[in-house]
Amino acid sequence: MSNVFVRVAIDQPMSVLFDYRYSLPIPPAIGALVQVPFGRRDVVGLICEVAASSDVPAAKLRDVTGICDACPPLSAQWLALAAFAADYYQRGLGEVALPALPQALRDASRWARLFAVDEHFRLLPAGRAELPDALPPRATALRRLAEALAAHPSLGVSDARALHPKASATFDDWLARGWIERAAPGDHALAPETSAPPTGAALLPQLTDEQREAVDAIAAARGFAPFLLHGVTGSGKTEVYLHTLAALLAARANAQALVLVPEINLTPQFEAAFRARFASLAPGSIVTMHSGLAEGERARNWLAAHTGSARIVLGTRLAILASMPDLAIIVVDEEHDPAYKQQEGLRYSARDLAVYRAKQLEIPVVLGSATPSLETWWQAEQGRYARLTLTRRAVADAALPSVRLIDLEEERQRGRASVEGLSGPLIAALKSRLEHGEQSLVFLNRRGYAPILSCDACGWVAGCPRCSAYAVLHKPERVLRCHHCGWESRIPKACPECGNVDIAPMGRGTQRVEETLASVVPGARVLRIDADSTRRKGSAQALFSNVHAGEVDILVGTQMIAKGHDFRRVTLVGVLNADTALFSHDFRASERLFAQLTQVSGRAGRAGLPGEVLIQTRYARHALYLALSRQDYVGFANATLAERRDARLPPFVYQAMLRAEGRTLEAAIAFLEEAAAAFAPLHGAERVTVYDAVPLTIVKVFNVHRAQLLLESGSRAALQSALRAWQPVLRSLKGVLRWNVEVDPLDV
Ligand code: ADP
Ligand code: ZN
Ligand code: ZN
Repeated sequence: MSNVFVRVAIDQPMSVLFDYRYSLPIPPAIGALVQVPFGRRDVVGLICEVAASSDVPAAKLRDVTGICDACPPLSAQWLALAAFAADYYQRGLGEVALPALPQALRDASRWARLFAVDEHFRLLPAGRAELPDALPPRATALRRLAEALAAHPSLGVSDARALHPKASATFDDWLARGWIERAAPGDHALAPETSAPPTGAALLPQLTDEQREAVDAIAAARGFAPFLLHGVTGSGKTEVYLHTLAALLAARANAQALVLVPEINLTPQFEAAFRARFASLAPGSIVTMHSGLAEGERARNWLAAHTGSARIVLGTRLAILASMPDLAIIVVDEEHDPAYKQQEGLRYSARDLAVYRAKQLEIPVVLGSATPSLETWWQAEQGRYARLTLTRRAVADAALPSVRLIDLEEERQRGRASVEGLSGPLIAALKSRLEHGEQSLVFLNRRGYAPILSCDACGWVAGCPRCSAYAVLHKPERVLRCHHCGWESRIPKACPECGNVDIAPMGRGTQRVEETLASVVPGARVLRIDADSTRRKGSAQALFSNVHAGEVDILVGTQMIAKGHDFRRVTLVGVLNADTALFSHDFRASERLFAQLTQVSGRAGRAGLPGEVLIQTRYARHALYLALSRQDYVGFANATLAERRDARLPPFVYQAMLRAEGRTLEAAIAFLEEAAAAFAPLHGAERVTVYDAVPLTIVKVFNVHRAQLLLESGSRAALQSALRAWQPVLRSLKGVLRWNVEVDPLDV
């Protein structure tokens, strides 16, 4: 009797594949999803090999219980990408491949429904005439359903459900009334919700010479071609992407493009631009992929990419592992953004994987930024990435804003008062913008009302009982809240230590600045955007549209307002409290600060009105601020790279971090020390420097103590091979709650 066996990747913290007997009628294929028993559960796995024999004793072998034949197998190339990521980031293949799939595919009980051919309906003339009037006035979901039916030749039930949860019952009802009929599932995908304007060539902006050169260079590329698109804020990088994609998609019938953006809040702006520009593509050709999508939508978008019906995938970092059989170009916008680094589970860099994937597929990859990461800049300096430079803003007459430093020390010496941390010049500038009907933006990277609540009399400070951190005062919500673990308590009326009723907030967060602005700039409509004001789903979008609609005079917020948004009416940006990052122990802090301040400054003066940036600082002569005020990224980058080279820091060396979490700090440190001792004899370890185990800056979070061990080497290969050999050793060590290895850590 002929036997078939399959080796299956499963989402387990082990790097091995699991053998199963295969006796289903459908032949097994590499890359197919299967259902297999694992322990006492059934799990979904991925076939990685098909074999005629197995080393596992027959008595121990179990059977594959199901195969998802409706889903085309994942390609060998996709599996190779997952295998590379697993290897590079020190994980098992299954731990990488399975979490990269949408949840609905990883649950065999949902396969049938996911792939069921949708029942389709079409609006009849009677329905067209009667339905609009028959709907109750406030039934918005029903109305959307009726409008979708009217707008499309036919509508599938699964698309309809996204508009109205009871769509299928509703259709039964409308069917009975003779308003709709069953239809063939021809044109089943929903067209974009945003109605696209006509896209005559006349409406497209004329590319600037610099943009044209960039588009031409990318179009001329053959094979693996990494580009750094270094363009100042407002230089029209998006337009370069749009033109590049338009040329590519027109030239090749099946070609697919992947566009990554750092933040979910930026997807709507990009999506609208792409939908408008590519309105002529078949409906369903543009899909988004990010963590904000409902599960069903996520699965359908993933499948659209996987089957090739989606031509453009627009997503956040997780989209880098999307299956795209005809992927022809990858764009990583704001490539420097730390959000491209996944901080849990598989700690990958989507930007780095994008470059790897482009190399694997021999396609171009475009990394865009006004302030490229120093890793990328260094690649360009060495000539490994081709540099495309946009030095000017694209909109005619729009210049980069002027940057002015407000020396708080000098202000104080001259006896010019600040009001609650807002300097005289900044307040004056805000008032003048208000008079001219222009918008201002006030940036500070600290949310809440005040970071510290303390008692003058005895020195008590409100802290989180579970973390080694202060509890942040949140005034509107009337709580003390820990930003590390979420702990909350009511604000005490008096000092819990000494009874003093004069406990006072120290320092400032966005809520406090919002309050101050309302009083020092009378009549201004102030809006705050930060993680607290946008907690509800969709609220960020609503707040941003208020800004775009001109219903806001002063926008105050954290880095959420700094990134990528094309605010047309902002002419003033004020920066508060940036100094703390100048003296961080993290060697990347200044790079991040420069990028962040450039980004936020870049929101000013985008549409032709002159923009101004005022940075309040106590260190007005600091080199970083001076470079910033000269808009001198290149000078800053090269000086910082020289420092990194002298100090032997990345990108001149490669790093990895072992982090451990224990019930006590001693346990975490002991684990790391044992691990370090076990590392020394490994192959490649002689070329790796192992530093001392140290506690994290915030050592305790949620009652767990954290410490880390840094490894560093001039040889990536030596580091990789030693890390690989280390894995089984680490797994055998005991004494901590959790540990993980991070390759190329961003926070050191
Ligand atoms: P970046 O991403 O480089 O900061 P954007 O892509 O957001 O810049 O473009 C900035 C603004 O310039 C947008 O409003 C965009 O519509 C406009 N723009 C881009 N290219 C052109 C062009 N060639 N002519 C006129 N306006 C342009
Ligand atoms: Zn006290
Ligand atoms: Zn806490």
